[in-house]
Amino acid sequence: MGCPVARLCYDRGVSSSAAPTDLYIDGRWRPAADGGRFDVIDPATEKRIASVADADAADAIAAVDAAAAAQPTWAAVAPRQRGEILRRAYERMAAGADSLAELIVRENGKPLPEARGEVLYAADFLRWYAEEAVRIDGTFATAPAGTNRMLVLRQPIGVALLITPWNLPAAMITRKIGPALAAGCTVVVKPAEQTPLTALALACVLDEAGVPPGVVNVVTTTQSAKVGSAVLTDARVRKLSFTGSTEVGRRLLEQAARRVVKTSMELGGNAPFIVFADADLDAAVAGAMIAKMRHNGETCTAANRIYIEEPVYDAFLDRFTAAAAALKMGHGLEAGVQLGPLIDADGRDKVQRLVDAAVARGARVLTGGRVPRGPGFFYPPTVLAEVDSDSPILCEEIFGPVAPAIRFRDTDTVIRAANAVDHGLVAYVYTRDLGRGLRVAEALESGMVGLNRGLVSDPAAPFGGVKQSGIGREGGHDGLLEYTESKYIALEF
Ligand code: NAP
Repeated sequence: MGCPVARLCYDRGVSSSAAPTDLYIDGRWRPAADGGRFDVIDPATEKRIASVADADAADAIAAVDAAAAAQPTWAAVAPRQRGEILRRAYERMAAGADSLAELIVRENGKPLPEARGEVLYAADFLRWYAEEAVRIDGTFATAPAGTNRMLVLRQPIGVALLITPWNLPAAMITRKIGPALAAGCTVVVKPAEQTPLTALALACVLDEAGVPPGVVNVVTTTQSAKVGSAVLTDARVRKLSFTGSTEVGRRLLEQAARRVVKTSMELGGNAPFIVFADADLDAAVAGAMIAKMRHNGETCTAANRIYIEEPVYDAFLDRFTAAAAALKMGHGLEAGVQLGPLIDADGRDKVQRLVDAAVARGARVLTGGRVPRGPGFFYPPTVLAEVDSDSPILCEEIFGPVAPAIRFRDTDTVIRAANAVDHGLVAYVYTRDLGRGLRVAEALESGMVGLNRGLVSDPAAPFGGVKQSGIGREGGHDGLLEYTESKYIALEF
């Protein structure tokens, strides 16, 4: 993969005007209309690694112009051909996984093996939707009264605005671009301010794979509210797919409602992780480490509340605390590092505030619990025992490597506690009794459940939440349908 953004960031350490750190609009790199730029920071060193174009509303509308102009032609491209372009993008991304992974480490902070894992996971969305592009079906039926036929077909919804977060800077983009392009939609991507380089590198990949000009446009910006509202008020934009916090999602839903724009919302989580006394404890500890510590604890699927049944409470916590304390923290590019810095000072300070509030309510710190000396926005792996049920850490998304543990004594109580939050993205259950596991999984108010498994994400599966964790699904065939509209033709002959 020849994307110079990737090369620039780890070869030279800073950007230059020769690199594609500008806006990607209509298949060309162009500076922001007012010439504005902003810095990208390495969260492990707090140093600038690049500067990228800072789009304003006029740039965003230029991106909509390009996407709207390309829309009819792209929708008319044969599904097989759309799939083949996506397949080429998958292959280029997989081949360039190492350089993309280094780029992600530099701007996001996660350890290199996890960044590499993210790139392959992200590429897999392009592969899955390359295969799905030829499976957009419809139905043909006789009306129940026998008077006519009913033909239902699926059409691309049109220009889509894709707004993505920093925590999975590659995967959250391909999870949207894959199905959008497969369905025949064109897109304007607005990545998070902290991780624009990965988005620009993906633009390079798609460009090299043969995505025609205007089909994918990337606008990096520090003015997300202005850019978002300019695009959402444009009548040519027919779809908003957002991944991010519930708070911002709610605001965008209000804006989308004004023009009745179809939305997909992948929002925050607050996952319970339930360990029953009959669980395989080694497997439960391994699963909890994945569900809690992966990507520095900065995932929407992160285990936020660890419920442990009384008889195994101490045994589970002893093993889990030992595993957490053994994690090596450092710059994600250093060999052996398993935990990188958090994204920024605000993210780190929020984690410390939640830990302090829990401790003030009686929680015991088994490991971690204190911000280390800088530079970098590091927070150590932390385990808290006997966390009071009213602690804010159980209601708010932690977004850091902190595991609050709560003791439980019976199944009904733990289900009630697990469901007593506004979010409902994912839940985890560990038990050897499959019947109980399935009964509990059905009773949990979440869009996904990991049963004896600490990882649920898969491009082939419908990912998404209930309650305030979102609307709609990404991944699987469901993810493709989010970018289509049904058209029903009543037919008489
Ligand atoms: P965020 O603050 O909500 O930001 C997400 C995106 O929205 C960013 O690109 C941000 O741009 C943009 N944005 C912010 N305010 C906006 C506005 N008024 N109008 C238009 N765009 C706006 O979330 P984050 O901190 O980046 O990501 C962490 C959150 O994402 C967590 O809550 C996590 O659970 C959630 N998440 C959910 C999923 C899922 O699949 N359910 C997956 C990953 C993450 P700026 O960066 O410029 O502010």
